[in-house]
Amino acid sequence: MKKRIVVLGAAESGAGAAVLALKKGFDVFVSDMGPIKERYKNMLDSYGITWEEKQHTEELILNADEVIKSPGIPENAPMVLKIKEKNIPIISEIEFAGRYTRAKMICITGSNGKTTTTSLIYHIFKNAGYNVGLAGNIGQSLALQVAEKDYDYYVIELSSFQLDNMYQFRANIAVLLNITPDHLDRYDNCMQNYVDSKMRILQNQTEEDAFVYWADDPIIKKELQKYGIKAQTCPFSIIRKEGMIGYIEDGQYVIETPTPFNMELEALSLTGKHNLYNSLAAGISAKIAHVKNEDLRESLGNFEGVEHRLEKVARVRGVEYINDSKATNVDACWYALESMTTPTILILGGKDKGNDYHAIEELVRKKCSGLVFLGADNTKLHQFFDGFGIPIADTHNMKDCIEACYKMARPGDTVLLSPCCASFDLFKNMEDRGEQFKTLVRSL
Ligand code: ADP
Repeated sequence: MKKRIVVLGAAESGAGAAVLALKKGFDVFVSDMGPIKERYKNMLDSYGITWEEKQHTEELILNADEVIKSPGIPENAPMVLKIKEKNIPIISEIEFAGRYTRAKMICITGSNGKTTTTSLIYHIFKNAGYNVGLAGNIGQSLALQVAEKDYDYYVIELSSFQLDNMYQFRANIAVLLNITPDHLDRYDNCMQNYVDSKMRILQNQTEEDAFVYWADDPIIKKELQKYGIKAQTCPFSIIRKEGMIGYIEDGQYVIETPTPFNMELEALSLTGKHNLYNSLAAGISAKIAHVKNEDLRESLGNFEGVEHRLEKVARVRGVEYINDSKATNVDACWYALESMTTPTILILGGKDKGNDYHAIEELVRKKCSGLVFLGADNTKLHQFFDGFGIPIADTHNMKDCIEACYKMARPGDTVLLSPCCASFDLFKNMEDRGEQFKTLVRSL
């Protein structure tokens, strides 16, 4: 009898996993507690895969041999608990897809910088002529690409939620950018649970693999003492010191091994301190995969960046507007503020994931000439920032927010949307928040 795979959640990863499972000869069923988007319904229908939406029918799910769970569904969702009770293995789409490809896997995780670094690595590989796919949280699912294409390399962005359900999967090059508090609401408010999840990127690595990481991250440093790492370790830092594979020195971006590489800092296309880390991680990964120096130099110099990440939108009456809608936690906002070179009106607020604003207190005092709160409920922000003596405006939609910024800003200022919070209280998602910001700014 055919083995039965049930896919929970029918968005990009779930629909892709279902198609791959069908192609590999499984009996497949897809179930989503919410409505399924039209394009995914069409995709499933075109393969004759059965599905249900707005419900989970137990009899069709609890008879599975294995369940592929979308990273968006929490571990404590009622159906997930029932599946666990029955001892049915639950895996992620990446774990499943990894079983059916021999391609080399370059996997990127961290609390911040994943999408930027993943996109940059992909850009470098593609420009160097590699047969490479981009997957994970970006673009098409890994499973669908494994089902339909034949790449030699995949560059994969991995969230902690994806890592949680990965067991046998092996990253040939694992990149760990940083670990700072995020998503604690999904980890029983326990930081160590979240950290353990990120460290799973190391599991199954062998001597033939490489582990690229930011050496100055206090949490990573501490964690590494607990692990016997088999892979070749490739630490980087923005200061030159013993053991670093990559670093910044005298205005130069330097990578030492496997063969030396350097270029002027000025020639890097991504700006801001955080992007030095991202560019180092990407460059080291490229060198490990034998990308030629001239190709690497060109790609680090012409990468256009990623939408909603410190994206310059427009200059209006001498005021620069920057969209960093993707800054959904305090650490991301810290780096955005750190890279500001003019007085800044900071737009903050949204759905708080347990934020502690002390981390940005000093930078706010030093750099901000105004604060505009943008959330359904701004109480916590008022409690923290009202005493700073900085002008503050309280808004609950993007239109009022932009008007408030426009009134507050003086020529030479920067208006920065880097809200420290998720967007779901007022917007569909962080993209919607960024789009609304850009549209309104452009119509000022
Ligand atoms: P992720 O995919 O991990 O959320 P992104 O590349 O989308 O990361 O960037 C998210 C936010 O984090 C952006 O606001 C960006 O300015 C900030 N950021 C990017 N890289 C880093 C980094 N290495 N360290 C800290 N913050 C970063």
